[in-house]
Amino acid sequence: MDYKKLADMLFPNITKLISDYEETIFPKRNLKEGAKVTRLAPSPTGFIHLGNLYGAFVDERLAHQSEGVFMLRIEDTDEKRKVEGAVETIISSLEYFGVKFDEGAFVDGEIGNYGPYYQSNRKEIYQSVAKHLVEIGRAYPCFCTEEELEELRNKQESAKVNTGYYGEWARDRNLSLEEIQSHLDNNDSFVLRFKSEGKEENTNEVEDSIRGKLVIHENFQDIVILKTNGIPTYHFAHVVDDHLMRVTHVVRGEEWLSTLPIHIEIFNTLNWNPPLYCHTAHMMKMDNGNKRKLSKRKDPELGLGYYMDLGYHPAAVREYLLTILNSNYEEWRIENSDSSTDDFKFTLEKMSTSGALFDLDKLNNISKDVLVKIPVEEIYDFLLQWSKNHKKEITKLLEVNKESILKLFAIGRDGKKPRKDLIYCEQIFEFISYYFDEYFEIVDKYPENIDEEEAKKLLKAYLNTFDYNDDQSQWFDKIREISVENGYAAKPKDYKKNPELYKGHVGDVSVVVRIAVVGRESSPDVWEIQQILGEDKVRERLKKAIM
Ligand code: GLU
Repeated sequence: MDYKKLADMLFPNITKLISDYEETIFPKRNLKEGAKVTRLAPSPTGFIHLGNLYGAFVDERLAHQSEGVFMLRIEDTDEKRKVEGAVETIISSLEYFGVKFDEGAFVDGEIGNYGPYYQSNRKEIYQSVAKHLVEIGRAYPCFCTEEELEELRNKQESAKVNTGYYGEWARDRNLSLEEIQSHLDNNDSFVLRFKSEGKEENTNEVEDSIRGKLVIHENFQDIVILKTNGIPTYHFAHVVDDHLMRVTHVVRGEEWLSTLPIHIEIFNTLNWNPPLYCHTAHMMKMDNGNKRKLSKRKDPELGLGYYMDLGYHPAAVREYLLTILNSNYEEWRIENSDSSTDDFKFTLEKMSTSGALFDLDKLNNISKDVLVKIPVEEIYDFLLQWSKNHKKEITKLLEVNKESILKLFAIGRDGKKPRKDLIYCEQIFEFISYYFDEYFEIVDKYPENIDEEEAKKLLKAYLNTFDYNDDQSQWFDKIREISVENGYAAKPKDYKKNPELYKGHVGDVSVVVRIAVVGRESSPDVWEIQQILGEDKVRERLKKAIM
């Protein structure tokens, strides 16, 4: 077979050679020894998820810790999965979480010398490589129709052999030039298949940078590399791109392990060194005591939109993901509580291979720790910005009441054991919502030992003695007095000793006041809250509670 002739028949307009790309168009990068080149390569399906972010952090750390390059490549070869606006969503979501690219697709264009960074614009590059594979006899056109492939599958199933297009089952492997020409004359559509020389029974060793040595079976399938429209499949496109973009480390999900043999065979056939593959573990969650994969359908927390809608601070999400990315991160954090996450030395070896367990409660706890270190002014700005995109109806309220909100955030923040109440914007607003009359509501019930009538009696006494100018200890002395006058112990421990002597203790009376003024049984210091609410608001709330 004259493969050269076949290549010219199939790709008459392709004139560039692989060497043109390798030597002139995408030459070796000028980076220092050991610098890593990584890429995030999402498909614009409209859904960007934690796995993407998890991978992006790995890519970003590898590149930037080694003074390398981190790029964003858009894998948009699958027309059916493409969604309008998805690229913008990808870019803005990653930006939200502080992922910074050096090169690739950006909102207002592309940056870098290894583009285009949209696979849909690299058709000529893929076809040049495909043409070369045809020339060396390692790719061929396949004119089989869907029906014929279906028939093939049925036959293989009845014969109880592997299904697929391979070996003697690969009908169009041996078409003559004349047969191919006549198909082309007929305008029959065709895919280009890779001609595998692998044997299923053979195994090879591949070093995975997270998982160590992997023993994989050889690929033996003649997979499709170019679809009928001349656009490549993922298997082929990423090999070509990662080679020509000079990627050194491919970080991707473990779902790609099963097709790794295909990728290795293509690299070897082209005489290219494969990059170092780093297959990350699936994100898992506990569900009724069982560990399972996070699912797009069942778990809204898989999508990054979930965190942006609720207003999680990017620093909190980053901090949390680092704890699941590297097993020694938490230990490091304890010893370096004030360091930037970038000072942590991230390594692939410390990554889990058995599933990264995602736990929302833990994220929330970490978020509390992270937010308590962020100055209140910054939290305010963050909340305000979030409201503009997600809860417009409160933006004005936040703007007008800025000073009070800062004070509310600041209650109990100093000292050795600062209050850690703030988690994410939706919750933060809910946490301070009692301040605003429009949102104030009585959420909790009075303590069990105090009925409505009794509560009113206590609150009347409180209102009668209330003086906005009392300092904190004068204020509390009054609560104590009211307690004693009404049959409550002045100290909880007195009540514990002789419960039969009292209706309850001073703590119960404070809760009644707290519920009337703040609407909840637990909150930061009530005296401080009253100072921020102002005398009128406090009196009004008390009057309402007594009515
Ligand atoms: N486009 C692929 C995906 O969305 C990327 C896999 C890779 O990183 O190579 O999963």
